[in-house]
Amino acid sequence: KSASEGGPTIFDKIIKREIPATVVFEDELCMAFRDVNPQAPTHLLVIPKERGNLSQLSKAQEDDKSMLGHLLYTANRVAAQEGLDKTGYRVVINDGVEGCQSVYHLHLHVIGGRQLTWPPG
Ligand code: 5GP
Repeated sequence: KSASEGGPTIFDKIIKREIPATVVFEDELCMAFRDVNPQAPTHLLVIPKERGNLSQLSKAQEDDKSMLGHLLYTANRVAAQEGLDKTGYRVVINDGVEGCQSVYHLHLHVIGGRQLTWPPG
């Protein structure tokens, strides 16, 4: 199975600590770590530890609502941990091919630490 069909991704290895990542927050439901290819001084990824059907946001179901809320709440929490609550920051979810998603395990990008521009490309 390819990742986009729900097979394992590199993030499973990060969750299992099989490959290193700089983890900045973790609880029973989710994990936040630094993106390996940061697009800004702070670039974190917030992911559910159990992907389930959440390979991408467009696969979300009714029973994913509490996890989605938890991930968004956690995005702000880790942003504040980085001091970004004082300056502003951006949360992004890339979905599917046209959204430029490359890892099919739902993740929220938390990006900040410099003046960002809008709209994205
Ligand atoms: P996407 O393009 O799917 O929205 O974002 C995937 C993100 O995962 C990219 O920003 C990419 O740099 C990051 N990424 C991919 N592989 C790894 C990895 O092994 N470790 C970490 N920390 N980030 C990764």
